[in-house]
Formats: sequence, structure tokens, C-alpha cells
Amino acid sequence: MKLLDAIQTHAENYPQTEAFRSQGQSLTYQELWALSDRAAAAIKKRVSGEKGSPVLVYGHMEPHMIVSFLGSVKAGHPYIPVDLSIPSERIAKIIESSGAELLIHVSGLPVDIDSGRIQTVSAEELLENEGTVSRDQWVAGHETFYIIYTSGSTGNPKGVQISAANLQSFTDWICADFPINGGKTFLNQAPFSFDLSVMDLYPCLQSGGTLHCVTKDAVNKPKILFEELKKSGLNIWTSTPSFVQMCLMDPGFSQDLLPEADTFMFCGEVLPVSVAEALLERFPKARIFNTYGPTEATVAVTSVEITSDIISRHESLPVGFAKPDMNILIMDEQGNQLPDGEKGEIVIAGPSVSRGYLGEPELTDKAFFSYEGQWAYRTGDAGYIQDGQIFCQGRLDFQIKLHGYRMELEEIEFHVRQSQYVRSAVVIPYQPNGTVEYLIAAIVPEEHEFQKEFHLTSAIKKELAAFLPAYMIPRKFIYQDHIQMTANGKIDRKRIREEVLV
Ligand code: AMP
Repeated sequence: MKLLDAIQTHAENYPQTEAFRSQGQSLTYQELWALSDRAAAAIKKRVSGEKGSPVLVYGHMEPHMIVSFLGSVKAGHPYIPVDLSIPSERIAKIIESSGAELLIHVSGLPVDIDSGRIQTVSAEELLENEGTVSRDQWVAGHETFYIIYTSGSTGNPKGVQISAANLQSFTDWICADFPINGGKTFLNQAPFSFDLSVMDLYPCLQSGGTLHCVTKDAVNKPKILFEELKKSGLNIWTSTPSFVQMCLMDPGFSQDLLPEADTFMFCGEVLPVSVAEALLERFPKARIFNTYGPTEATVAVTSVEITSDIISRHESLPVGFAKPDMNILIMDEQGNQLPDGEKGEIVIAGPSVSRGYLGEPELTDKAFFSYEGQWAYRTGDAGYIQDGQIFCQGRLDFQIKLHGYRMELEEIEFHVRQSQYVRSAVVIPYQPNGTVEYLIAAIVPEEHEFQKEFHLTSAIKKELAAFLPAYMIPRKFIYQDHIQMTANGKIDRKRIREEVLV
């Protein structure tokens, strides 16, 4: 695979170049290559299953995370990145649905993992023995390279399988069409269990750059974050718009802080005009790109450079033009292609599209299909095309983005309703200006003995924390004596929203 070959070449030609840094720890290309060889040999010994059975890698942004990722794919096994923010019940579901045999933990074993179900090993132990594997073991072509679990509307997360070919096509596009080549320093802000992290990780490694990770600890302490950024020598900024918006709240976030920053790349949610304007003003040396795509189509499949001219011509920014080898169309509910300017569902076809959800043929059949000889994905996003540019106009279903995280309201509702204190529940996004700020749970409670509502709320939140990452737990809880229904017996979300927002 070209990506792995490129990393090997950097390791041979520039062995001491830093490939990765994260909170004071770092890894050169030579170390990354040698350690991932060791990991591959050890993984091959431990996983009895055939080539292709996945390996879970649990941790945050430690150097051993990427050593384990590369070790897995060199051993012929896709990896499933699982961030520390994922609670153990959810990890258990991922283990069960993926059939993974091995879990590598980089920063301690997650509590409550049934080690009878899966072999567990620390990255340190994995790397104790010398060894290597032959390159014909490597994951290649249509074999799965990684599996990223996203929120699923049925209450369970679903695993999107991305092949070596999907990833190579994406990485080649980023390296060809964006000004990121030549050993630059890239920011990684998203945990590896979100595919936004792939936007910087693999283009960085293929182009011989240095990945600079900002950990959750740094993100939670803006002072430390800014001190770290100042020393980073960062050139390429990749993040959600929400994250850069948070940084922009500090007037010190400017070209003086990051004198070498020349490219900002965004994906994952709407890029507000105000954010793009502020960046152009504060970073006069930088170019800004808006990109769009779901995990199911390998990170991003459209792009556009956001200039003052584009801003002056649009009230909401376009997501841009299709990646050259992709076909992006707008379809109506019957699957007919709509002409330019007409609004419908955005459908993505071509080599970036995942083969589907791991072990979920029904979910795969619902969302993926063959279109004129190409593999295609129905995004569930509403949009239209004008002069070759794609405009995204929100969702056709109950999927939302909150601070850049993708989630299905139905999955959250499923877990809220499982609570012993809840009879029925609906989760409503609080979205005052088009952007979701937080979630509100409207609840009909069971009989309970709590004196105060906030005691009830904290009991429900405690139960939820076992199943959902903190970012998916509603902030506000409102108690009602019944859930509003429409005339035809469906939950009346519109009315509930009006009621809870007064
Ligand atoms: P994820 O799989 O987490 O990358 O989420 C994919 C979803 O995020 C898409 O289906 C869109 O709803 C939304 N999204 C991604 N990029 C953009 C963008 N540039 N503008 C608006 N929405 C976006």
C-alpha cells in the first residue's frame, strides 16, 4: 500500500524526523516504523482468527496508539480505535458486534471489560519482543484498514468499514489538492475514534510531516492549550469548526500565536460565516478550506477554499466541489436524480464509499446501494447542487452534530428510556441559531422517591454514563406528565420543542 510504503521511505530517508507528538511524548519515523513492525509480529501471534479479524485499540492520543494502528494493519488486521471517552458498556457492545479477538490498551485497561470474551494486552507488553512480518501480510486493496463506530439510531453503535483502497483514495486526494506537502506540522484535535482525525493523521504521515496532537486535557485548559500551540510550529490546522470557534473566543488566537499556520481545514459540521471571516482577518497568511463528508465515505468528499469573495456571495457557505473521482448527486425520495438547484438527499458514489457496516447487512442495505456501476451511500443530508458546488442544508432524519460530535437522537432516547426512573422520553436539541448548543431530555418519570427534581436528574445521568459518552448525555432535563403526540400517534417533536423552549 502506497501509504505504508511512503512511511517506510520516510523512516529510511529521514529516520530522525518527528512523525508524532503528544503532550511531551514523541516518536520519530524510524521509531514508528520499527515499533509498528514489532507490534505486527506480536499481534499476528496473538490473533488466531484469519486475516481481517479486527483489533480494538483503546487509549487517547499516546504515541502507542498509532504504533498499534500500523501494527494491526501490517499484521493484516483492521483496527478499531476506541477513545478513553467511550464508556465500558459501549466498548462491550463494540467487542460483541465486531467479533474482535484482541484489545490493545495504551493507557490502562478500561474497567469492566470481560477478559473472558476478548484477549487484552497492554501496548508495552505487546512491544516487548522483537519481530517483524512480511509485507504480503499487510492489509491491502479492498481489505478493511480501520473500522470507526458511529452512533446508531437503534441504540447500538455501528461500525463503518474503511478499506485500504478507500483510505488511499482519500489520502491521495488531500495530498494532491491541498497545500499540505513537504514535511509540515499538522494539528490533530479529534480523538482517533472520530474520522476527522484521519484527515490529518494519514496525509501527514504520507507527506512526511509531524502530527501534533492536542489532548483532551489541553483542550480543557485553554491556557495550557495556547502555550502548547505557541511552541508547536504548526502549519496545518485541522479541526471541527466548533473547536476553532472556541479558540477564537480568545483574542490571542491569531497569526502571532501561530506564525507558520498557512492552512485551515474543516470538516464535520457547518462552518459558520462568522468563523471563516474571523479566521481570514486574524490569520492573513492562511488559506481556509471547508470540506464535507460522512464517515461512510472516508472523512470528506467535497472541498472549497473559503475566500472573502465566497463569503460575500453566500449567506451560508457551500461545502464545495466533489473530489475528482467521486460522483455526488441529489436524489428525491424515489431515488430519481434531481436537476441542479433542486433540493433532495445528497448521495455519494465512487471509490471513497465504505462497503458498509460490519456485521449489519440490513443497515448496510438501507444506506448503501449500487448506482450506475458505482458503490453509493445515502447520506441522510439535505442539499442541492449549483454550478457544480454542493450546498448542505441539514439532516433529513434525527442525526445531529453537537460540538462536532455526530449522534443519533434516537440512540440517546433509547438509553434514556432504559432508565429505571423513566417511563417515556424525548430528546430535543436546543438550537437557538441553527447550531445545536445542548440537548434537552423531556421525561415522563416513573414513580420515585426523590425529594427534588435535580436528585432524579443526577440519578438518571448516572445511569446514562454507563452507556453513553459524556458528550451524548443531555444537559437539561424537563419533567412532564405525558409526551405530546400528533393526531396520527407519532411523537410530536415540534410541539415538545415549542413547549420545552419557552
Ligand atoms: P461524521 O460521520 O461524523 O463525519 O458526520 C457526517 C455528517 O456531518 C454529514 O453527514 C453532515 O451531516 C455533517 N457534515 C460534515 N461536514 C459538514 C460540512 N462541511 N458542513 C455541514 N455539515 C457537515
